[in-house]
Amino acid sequence: MQQNTPEVYTGMKKHLDHIVFKTISDICSEDNLEAYVIGGFVRDLFLKRPSKDIDVVVIGSGIELAEKVAIKLGNLRLNVFKNFGTAMLRYRDLEVEFVGARKESYQRDSRKPIVENGTLEDDQNRRDFTINALALSLKKENFGDLLDPFGGMADLETQTIRTPMDPDVTFSDDPLRMMRAIRFATQLGFKIEEKTFEGIINNKDRIEIVSGERIADELNKIVLAAKPSIGFKLLDKTGLLNIIFPELQEMKGVDKVNGRAHKDNFYHTLEVLDRIVPNTDNLWLRWSAILHDIAKPRTKKFEKGQGWTFHNHNFIGEKMIPGIFRRMKLPMNEKLKFVQKMVGLHMRPIVLSQEIVTDSAVRRLLFEAGDDIDDLMTLCEADITSKNEDKVKRYMRNFKLVRQKLKEIEEKDRVRNFQPPISGELIIETFKLDPCKAIGDIKTAIKDAILDGKIPNEYEPAFEYMLKLGKEMGLTLNNNE
Ligand code: ATP
Repeated sequence: MQQNTPEVYTGMKKHLDHIVFKTISDICSEDNLEAYVIGGFVRDLFLKRPSKDIDVVVIGSGIELAEKVAIKLGNLRLNVFKNFGTAMLRYRDLEVEFVGARKESYQRDSRKPIVENGTLEDDQNRRDFTINALALSLKKENFGDLLDPFGGMADLETQTIRTPMDPDVTFSDDPLRMMRAIRFATQLGFKIEEKTFEGIINNKDRIEIVSGERIADELNKIVLAAKPSIGFKLLDKTGLLNIIFPELQEMKGVDKVNGRAHKDNFYHTLEVLDRIVPNTDNLWLRWSAILHDIAKPRTKKFEKGQGWTFHNHNFIGEKMIPGIFRRMKLPMNEKLKFVQKMVGLHMRPIVLSQEIVTDSAVRRLLFEAGDDIDDLMTLCEADITSKNEDKVKRYMRNFKLVRQKLKEIEEKDRVRNFQPPISGELIIETFKLDPCKAIGDIKTAIKDAILDGKIPNEYEPAFEYMLKLGKEMGLTLNNNE
């Protein structure tokens, strides 16, 4: 392993002016220990990204040091993870994790490293990027000194993601680091240094040995960044996208028939994703933006007289999503249902805004979208990505109209969380029916009449309407009452 004389920066004391650091430092003096703040917290300190997660590495036992710190800070509760040799405590809004310095060595045929106790240098050597290997000393003698073995400060300055060791080794040892490189490049707006980038390309296939959950964690962090398209473009360029999310990769490219091309749906999707970011922090609405056109490649057709069509891509997309979520270890619960609903309905407001907006169409949209109507409108507005500014303006004006109309109709008719005013039981009771198809038919006809504005959403008129329907269907009234 590479020997390094760390660059030392003094005068960093001011960054450690906190009772937690002072307490650790006092214990280090009393017990003659070495401890450091290391990793993300130090990186974020210099990037002025306030962080509440502090990692402390000690030469010795992390758990023993944590126990002493917890007592000294006022008998704080300590979470001990014996298997990992770590302990965590919370002090006000800070979360401090203690771990003993480790040396890790990987063997070609095993994913799990051999872990031994080690020195600070050993611990820095096992870190993924130069900017994540910075350590601030908590020892009294050199309190606040920054130990930077790999030029991490210079890389922070030039906004570079670089592995401390040979990238091929770093990425092959733990292939998740490839996702982390792209995640940090996206979150921080840094570039990935050339050799590091090549290392990802060389090792991309090893991503297969990483668990889906760990990959999904990184992907979600990319999706939640301020400009997620950076991450997806890097995933594409390195070849990782094709392995972890081939459906998105498939959207790339443009076909031409008779000189007519369709738009590149990969770049369109990324534009929609970036456009939705300022309007929502909801991870699942952002996922809806990623997936809204996912079925376009498999529904694509060139039709005479019509040009390129993508019939039913919203419904087919909706059906594809459970498979994608399952494979990518995304949650198979109401979040999935939400994304499916968004994708299924994503064309509706656009169609509405192109036509004369009728009350009945708005009522139907409200009925189907329910409480998710605002999210659906946010998605649709982000979906307008035309280069033609006048066109975008026109759509936006129409959307404003649709939103206005949605508000008016909801206030008037309250169909957002529609509850039918006539129950199945009442239909059975009124016509003395055994369970049969007619009951469902009557319920649907009443619902349609309300949504079409033929009758108001109230009991009396709905009851009258039911009687009329029954008569038309030749049903007899139950006269026992
Ligand atoms: P964030 O808090 O934004 O997720 P982070 O880097 O601050 O990012 P962690 O992912 O908890 O937080 O990692 C803490 C530190 O542990 C990193 O800064 C890095 O030094 C080290 N580290 C984490 N994961 C790896 C890994 N897969 N390989 C090598 N070092 C890692």
